[in-house]
Amino acid sequence: MKPAPASLHARHRAVMPDWLGLYYREPLELTHGEGRHVWDAHGRRYLDFYGGVLTTMTAHALPEVTKAVGEQAGRILHTSTFYLDRHMVELAERIAALSRIPDPRVFFTTSGTEANDTALLLATAHRRSHQVLAMRNSYHGRSFSSIAVTGNSAWSPTALSPLQTLYVHGGVRTRGPYAHLSDAEFTAACVADLEDVLGQAHGTVAALIAEPVQGVGGFTAPPDGLYAAFREVLDRHGILWISDEVQTGWGRTGDHFWGWQAHAENGPPDLVTFAKGLGNGMAVGGVVGRAEVMNSLDAHSVSTFGGSPVTTAAALANLTYLLEHDLQGNARRVGGLLAERLRAIAAGLPVVREVRGRGLMLGIELAERDGTPSGRAAAAALEHCREGGLLVGRGGREGNVLRIAPPLTLTVAEAEQGAAVLEQALRRSQQDLDTLERP
Ligand code: PMP
Repeated sequence: MKPAPASLHARHRAVMPDWLGLYYREPLELTHGEGRHVWDAHGRRYLDFYGGVLTTMTAHALPEVTKAVGEQAGRILHTSTFYLDRHMVELAERIAALSRIPDPRVFFTTSGTEANDTALLLATAHRRSHQVLAMRNSYHGRSFSSIAVTGNSAWSPTALSPLQTLYVHGGVRTRGPYAHLSDAEFTAACVADLEDVLGQAHGTVAALIAEPVQGVGGFTAPPDGLYAAFREVLDRHGILWISDEVQTGWGRTGDHFWGWQAHAENGPPDLVTFAKGLGNGMAVGGVVGRAEVMNSLDAHSVSTFGGSPVTTAAALANLTYLLEHDLQGNARRVGGLLAERLRAIAAGLPVVREVRGRGLMLGIELAERDGTPSGRAAAAALEHCREGGLLVGRGGREGNVLRIAPPLTLTVAEAEQGAAVLEQALRRSQQDLDTLERP
């Protein structure tokens, strides 16, 4: 008898490294999407509250992006950054204008990791120092240097580092000695910590890299203005500020186009990195920054695929759609309603420690009865959501935060549908915990 063909999951396990994890007990194979929905290989439809990992910025299979990709792929897929391409220049001009950075320059990459790598390369070259500051609980990518500034140890697989990194408080405040401080007290404590860390530095520090809202870390944000307060200290030492906007850029947080604006409306960072949603699934990221810093390299440096004609054509169509349809406004309105609804649901459920975030970047932190982080409740809730036809993400250091970041075209009706599934899922997670705890 012929052996049964191996499942796709078994084949994945056999050929991929062990550290490449998959969501769900029975991993999900997605085959297509439209709008805010995706379908699995069995034809089952899901409302997508995660958009890949915030990669679907506007909508799945947005016709404008599909058309731009198809047309450009039919003309020429790729040339080289050694030749001129209209899409690349046009996209750079658009991003430069949106950046609010004076006299900006733009460089394109293929991922957020490569964008952060480039920003760190530029900052260290500019300042002639490989000493940098990063935030506790941060995530910046999977290359050697972006791991070197990733404070979240679950995603930082090596202690060997090409950079000398000093970690600063300000990422997480739901636990530890900072948990009960007011916003002003917390900000003052973090500034004091920054000063203390700088007092221990070996000479020149090149830059601080920070996510305005920590993504992988569980959608946790410091009080508004923290980075402006940091900036005053950094400026005294000439230290550059790199804002990693890979998750927070393009209006996702609703109130602002960039996450950094919640901190320093009139004082943009020196370098801003972006990726994920820009290409609506096409691999395009980059850095925008002050010319003086962007021009710091004294040898050639090229990304073969960074800013290719197809990915920049996709990004242009996507960005145009985003701006013409005021999706930042939609994120603020629909995200605001969704947050309100989730807070009402959470009020009756002790398993929910906090509903937080802004715009369409919302986190639901889950806890055991004694307040400790509950990764098991989050894992269960993820499965329950899937059974109810809803995809959400997971994050936080203990994997105890549900991450909600749908495509920015989410409608009010879809937000309500998703909230109803989440309510059932969280109730079931609460019951699971209650049952486990009964003697
Ligand atoms: N920075 C942040 C804030 C991220 O969330 C991520 C991806 N999760 C990255 C950088 C790395 O991006 P990529 O996976 O495209 O390399």
